Amino acid sequence: MLKIHNLHAEIDGKTILNGLTLEIPAGEVHAIMGPNGAGKSTLAYVLGGRPGYEVTEGSVEFMGQDLLALEPHERAAAGLFLGFQYPVEIPGVSNLQFLREALNSQRRARGEEPLTGGEFLKLAKDKAALLKLDPEMLKRHVNVGFSGGEKKRAEMVQMGILDPQFAVLDETDSGLDIDALRVVGDGINAIMRDPAKGVLLITHYQRLLEVVKPDKVSILSQGRIVRTGGPELAVELENEGYDAIMSAETAHA
Ligand code: ADP
Ligand code: MG
Ligand code: MG
Repeated sequence: MLKIHNLHAEIDGKTILNGLTLEIPAGEVHAIMGPNGAGKSTLAYVLGGRPGYEVTEGSVEFMGQDLLALEPHERAAAGLFLGFQYPVEIPGVSNLQFLREALNSQRRARGEEPLTGGEFLKLAKDKAALLKLDPEMLKRHVNVGFSGGEKKRAEMVQMGILDPQFAVLDETDSGLDIDALRVVGDGINAIMRDPAKGVLLITHYQRLLEVVKPDKVSILSQGRIVRTGGPELAVELENEGYDAIMSAETAHA
């Protein structure tokens, strides 16, 4: 579903991703862990097509398409969803307006009929109930005055409404209390655990992985994947730390 091959990317002439190769088939939840500054967020931004991130080598194929040739809105319409650590606030625009426009612009780009107001409202209420977000929150301006946990729930509602084929979630668990963490984890499971979908889940901590059980765990260090294993790798990291595991890797090499 997602095939990243020998990806090199730089910011302001500084190489951040340095030969990153990773394949995620449909049906897989793949967690990426790694120390600060390893390039995890850079990977998410490059996949999303954020300006300023220059790919200098390598390729990314998404569902048979050359992802890097697509504009960010085309990537979204193709079914790629990105969730970030710090959701933006949009004063003056309600969640409902924002989400309806986001969904309908993607539907138009795919040649599908936009949803009517009534159809959209029903979908939004269903997804809010699934994520235990008070439906009144949908009327409020996007993220304005939301608590950290409410922002995350709202982001999961957004993911549920857009119903992507593939989600890249960058430290979506950071700063969450244990209840919000469970809501986000359950949300990811409810929306994205599907044989036809895939998830790249970037996290610093094992605790989200106790709710969203990953099929694979990879360690990203200095811009490349240095090790891939099963869920036990996350536990090993939590117990031993990156330094111990990475110096063992260097000794193997
Ligand atoms: P991670 O998410 O794994 O903590 P990042 O992808 O955020 O790592 O950052 C990787 C490296 O890129 C770090 O050394 C960071 O300082 C650098 N970096 C990130 N963004 C920029 C930027 N806009 N300009 C210059 N360097 C950056
Ligand atoms: Mg970081
Ligand atoms: Mg980061």
